[in-house]
Amino acid sequence: MDQKFISQIQSKLEDKITELQAIKDRHSDQLQKKLPQDSGEATAHHQNKDLAELKRDHEVEEIEMIQKALGRIETGTFGQCIACGEDINIERLKAIPYAEHCIECQEKLDEEAHGG
Ligand SMILES: [Zn+2]
Repeated sequence: MDQKFISQIQSKLEDKITELQAIKDRHSDQLQKKLPQDSGEATAHHQNKDLAELKRDHEVEEIEMIQKALGRIETGTFGQCIACGEDINIERLKAIPYAEHCIECQEKLDEEAHGG
């Protein structure tokens, strides 16, 4: 894979991680402020994750994906599907730089996820 393209992706991913971490910290702050200090109501809501928490989980997930992608850049396996080892389509990497699967494997995974 083109080294120049990889370094472009790398700096893009690093920027994205910084951005996501800032958003995540903001959501974590919001969550902490919402914690009841001294009431027995704390358990009443715990079954429903609120929006800030869901968003934060999503960001944590995305950060993990990006960190994995950066790890693959370091080990030289970036751009290869982790399932079949084929090169991931470059247009796909431009759209989703931290994609772990080629389109074929991703479609299979999506089908399985939808219970097909
Ligand atoms: Zn694959």
